[in-house]
Amino acid sequence: MIYLDYQATTPLAPEVAETMRPWIEDKFANPHSPSRWGREADAAIEVARKQVEQVIGHSGGSLAFTGSATEALNWAIKGTLEKAPAGRNRIVTVQTEHAAVLDTCEWLASRGVEVGYLPVRYDGLLDLAQVEASVDERTALVAVMLVNNEIGVIQPVSEMTEIAHRAGALMLTDAVQGLGRVPIPEGPDLVALSAHKIHGPKGIGALWMREGAEPAPLIHGGGQERGLRSGTLSPALCVGFGAAAKLASERRDADGDHVETLWKAAWDILGPDWILNGSADRRYRGNLNLRREALDAGRLMADFRDIAFSLGSACASGSGRPSHVLRALGLGEREARSSIRLGFGRYTEEAELVEALRRIDVAAKAQENLAA
Ligand code: PLP
Repeated sequence: MIYLDYQATTPLAPEVAETMRPWIEDKFANPHSPSRWGREADAAIEVARKQVEQVIGHSGGSLAFTGSATEALNWAIKGTLEKAPAGRNRIVTVQTEHAAVLDTCEWLASRGVEVGYLPVRYDGLLDLAQVEASVDERTALVAVMLVNNEIGVIQPVSEMTEIAHRAGALMLTDAVQGLGRVPIPEGPDLVALSAHKIHGPKGIGALWMREGAEPAPLIHGGGQERGLRSGTLSPALCVGFGAAAKLASERRDADGDHVETLWKAAWDILGPDWILNGSADRRYRGNLNLRREALDAGRLMADFRDIAFSLGSACASGSGRPSHVLRALGLGEREARSSIRLGFGRYTEEAELVEALRRIDVAAKAQENLAA
């Protein structure tokens, strides 16, 4: 299989698997128990916490582990609204956010919270004047994704944070696709992360919180994570997240150079009939969201059982609906259905990317010839 779906998930790094192994096989103590073994597990979790904090690179806050980034985002949004001062009952977010943000906002809207959904331009980026106009003294939280999971574009999080703070609102960024790849701008009060997008294990995420901006807890119980997120932590998953974060820091330049080489190799193959969705400049280049006039992307995908790529967001696929992100760029339903998403990274070999793109290109042309 040629795996080109890095935005959906990334392969577990062998170094990460090795670090996790003893915590899966032998070291089963509860990290919250006071025994010697429990303390050893707890110490390993604290090392992992520091490793993830270091890759974020911000000071003045702390990190709590969660079961996923979806949980971290739910917590950040619901918990912030729960604690918001009277009169601040509004969230400002963006039409191109992940379902973990959009569906959470929709749920809150059904309970009386006002939600503003900012549009994006054709290149997928926000217009700061519109942000400025939408964020006001009634706003409790502004939520925006750093790197978009479908089209890879990098939103102006720093500028948005300034706007949010000027209005007295808190700023949340979903940095799931940015962690370890692009710098996470200083300033947001809340940062949501996931391990499995950086060659770590699935089933663990985190929320970084500026001191004083901790959301009200969603999950009550044994008081773990300073009473903010109850539930026994998994040492194996935490240690895996830490190892993946450390590796991402160490390999940031090498991984970045590799992605750049792959991006260039891809465009040597793709002709002018392939159109890039989203900005080419403000973009993480391990993402290629492409469309082609009259392409039936669903049929194309069915032709390739040995190449993994995506039609839209992995979470949305299966719904049969065209991607909400592509629709937000202003693409019609047909254009959205003519789009494919390819994601590549650390373990993608140039030769396999080239082979996959050649075959996809040939199949797309064959579809056109058949239709003509
Ligand atoms: N946010 C973004 C941008 C994502 O790409 C994803 C994963 O698809 C999530 C949030 C959810 O992450 P998790 O799988 O850890 O719940």
